Amino acid sequence: MLDLHIHMHPGRKDTPEVFKEKTMAAGVTGGAVFGLHPEGYQVESNEDQRWQARAEQIMEFCSRAPGFRPVFWIDPTDADAVEQVYGTAEMGVAGYKVICNHFFPVDGLKAYQAMAEVDLPLMFHSGVLYDQKVSSDYNRPMSFEFLMDVKDLRYSLAHISWPWSAELVALFGKLNCLAERYAENRGAMYFDITPGTPPIYRREAMRWIYMIGTKVKHRVLWGTDCEANDYKTDYALYWAKLDREIMEEISADPNAYRVSGQEEYDYSDIWELATEKNFDPFFGKPLK
Ligand SMILES: [Zn+2]
Repeated sequence: MLDLHIHMHPGRKDTPEVFKEKTMAAGVTGGAVFGLHPEGYQVESNEDQRWQARAEQIMEFCSRAPGFRPVFWIDPTDADAVEQVYGTAEMGVAGYKVICNHFFPVDGLKAYQAMAEVDLPLMFHSGVLYDQKVSSDYNRPMSFEFLMDVKDLRYSLAHISWPWSAELVALFGKLNCLAERYAENRGAMYFDITPGTPPIYRREAMRWIYMIGTKVKHRVLWGTDCEANDYKTDYALYWAKLDREIMEEISADPNAYRVSGQEEYDYSDIWELATEKNFDPFFGKPLK
């Protein structure tokens, strides 16, 4: 199992070796770790928040935790954001994390175009944001519709955009439809199904993703939102068990909502795809 969505927070941190032991206890053999946040997100007096230092920190950490890809958290509205993209790509980061807590997604457009150019994926937060700012309006799915025109960008929206999951699935429907018809001009949107969706609502949200009528199974990535500082094995196991059960229910009756004339779905492999096989195509290359 791979975990797409692990955060490195300021403060005390497990060593990479201890981190890896804890993930392995949950059956998580790899995935991605997001580095420390930029100043634009929140100022931290006890961390070196210069972009080079944050990129180095997460790269060094992941180099000692085999299987985990280092993801650089960028504020795409920084004056030198494009330079940060090129610089960290050269250093060898595997992708970019963006949380829009003081800007609309479109404000970072130039940085996203640079990410597409260096052929690295972008992982957005989406949905209500539990930070200390009035920020949730920046994270509604339709605020990401402009990404339809960013050629070749691979990007994910996290948390099934709770509580706007139906809006997210509708957005995917549009973008996927465009990508199929006009492939040469489009990027690829992925669902990062990391929780945020409460369990009572999650089954429904996941059914929407898989059964709304678009070809989706190659565009789903699994994650936990755990912290690399102290990976919560039990928490990861809880979500893995619940999500696997939900996916088994979905794959048992994949055509329950199929519209007449549409091709039939085979969803027998959706768990394996979301937790393993979709990662390499998303990141653009296999992990060395
Ligand atoms: Zn997160």
